[in-house]
Amino acid sequence: MSAAAPLPAAFTPFAGQRLAVVGLGRAGLPAARRLLGWGASLLCWDDKAENRAAAAAEGLPVGDPAALPGFPFDALLLSPGIPHRLPRVHPAAAAARAAGVPVLCDAELLFRAVRASGSRARFAGITGTNGKSTTTALLHHLLAGAGWESAVGGNLGPAAIGLPLLGDAGVYVLEMSSYMLERLARLRFDVAIQLNLTPDHIDRHGDMAGYAAAKAHIFDRQQAGDAAIIALDDAWGPWFAEGRTGRVIPVSGHAAQPGGVWAEGRLLRDAAGVLADLDTAPALPGRHNAQNAAAAAAAALALGLPRAAIAAGLASFPGLPHRQERVGTRGGILFVNDSKATNAESTAPALSSYERVVWIAGGVPKAGGIDSLAPLFPRIAAAVLIGQSAGDFAATLAAHGVPATIAGTLEAALPAALAAARAAGVGTVLLSPACASFDQFSGFEARGDAFRALVAALPEDA
Ligand code: ADP
Repeated sequence: MSAAAPLPAAFTPFAGQRLAVVGLGRAGLPAARRLLGWGASLLCWDDKAENRAAAAAEGLPVGDPAALPGFPFDALLLSPGIPHRLPRVHPAAAAARAAGVPVLCDAELLFRAVRASGSRARFAGITGTNGKSTTTALLHHLLAGAGWESAVGGNLGPAAIGLPLLGDAGVYVLEMSSYMLERLARLRFDVAIQLNLTPDHIDRHGDMAGYAAAKAHIFDRQQAGDAAIIALDDAWGPWFAEGRTGRVIPVSGHAAQPGGVWAEGRLLRDAAGVLADLDTAPALPGRHNAQNAAAAAAAALALGLPRAAIAAGLASFPGLPHRQERVGTRGGILFVNDSKATNAESTAPALSSYERVVWIAGGVPKAGGIDSLAPLFPRIAAAVLIGQSAGDFAATLAAHGVPATIAGTLEAALPAALAAARAAGVGTVLLSPACASFDQFSGFEARGDAFRALVAALPEDA
């Protein structure tokens, strides 16, 4: 492992550059701080007065860059949550575009700083509609577990620009949202992963073609020696594989991919043989996670990680909180926290992962409710419903002959679910709400944390 070359006392890769930073939230403010430290001359802005005040209070220069004639900046760092095109272009982005100034994301600025430091650290980027965070965390876990210098962040946090500067042997593992991918200029991913594509964020991208085009930017500037890892499990896969400049490595959660990595049942393999048995990886249940594991393993192989390290890392992966997180067992019944599933589409993989479950669901429903889950209803021994959607979901389930009770709150749902699991002889209680949480919680994390705490509070012999 090589250490980072010692940096000059004052490392100021952005000295002499004028940057407008728009969006001073959880990620924007630390980004501004770091850019200031790196020598940039800044003007910071947020549409919310309280965020402007917070920036001003710590001495950051605050003002509206869109109000300055000719947008006199070298780049605009625009928070991913703020649109530069659809549904309505932000005034700062409009001004930047009119002046021919690039709109960038923080990962781009990290890349520039790393290269300015003289480091050849490699970059791995992960995108797709679902599974980004899991695959990102898993790849980092595989590398770090083998003693490699790996820094993980991006969309799943922490923000890319806050990551440490790594030396030549380092690898940045970055989760890239479609919003970030539209704001790159020089960042080249040595290894880029595209997992899957289903309708999402269409308000920002116009249509599926626009959304796919945004995702495809993960492959921009790749060279022949770089890896373009593409899951071929949906109809968009071949589209992404078309015309790549990097080496295409196909992956799949269930179908053989000669030249790539795939799962055959629960065996993860490539042309050289079996890499790992996913049944030894408790945090990676289900076919969707087989896709994530195949992609992460392909990336690790492309980066040069030995096969044995991949098998060991898959088995020891702890998983991410709120994604089919095993939070405890009581009397042989396993409690799984899948609070991240805020729509029916994300609940489907969780329900598919268990033969029989008691299902806790509900909250603020998305259009279509849980109708699309009907093929999975036979796996549900009993449902316990919470939140706004409880009545509607109960009606849908009743129409399919699934026993459902309305508990209302998570506190009430837990004992009801435990009793139902006992009565039905079912080994798993799954919280996978298929709903947003805002009627009862501040977000999916708070909902999952509450579930975890309630499980922990159940007596051991409950
Ligand atoms: P993201 O960061 O893309 O939102 P996560 O890794 O946080 O993805 O997973 C979110 C949810 O999406 C999971 O709880 C699971 O239900 C579903 N999911 C995960 N991986 C996949 C996949 N490869 N294909 C389809 N759905 C997936």
